[in-house]
Amino acid sequence: MSLEVRAIGSPSCGGCHKCLSGKVAFVVMGAIEIPVTATRMILCPTCGCKRCPKASDCQLECTNSNLPGQEGSIYK
Ligand SMILES: [Zn+2]
Ligand SMILES: [Zn+2]
Repeated sequence: MSLEVRAIGSPSCGGCHKCLSGKVAFVVMGAIEIPVTATRMILCPTCGCKRCPKASDCQLECTNSNLPGQEGSIYK
């Protein structure tokens, strides 16, 4: 499948759930739009953990932890 990601909105890190929310990936073949956050795994750019609060919001501190229930993470 061919995916073209279009950047919409204000400048951001472009990698966390917060900055990617509202952005859509345009699926060329099907001509449908789906959330970017549903097309890729969002990981903390520092520690690489998906449950790190920084993966959900780049403004938050990296905890270097993948434990569930962390404050600020969408996985809590
Ligand atoms: Zn961000
Ligand atoms: Zn982290």
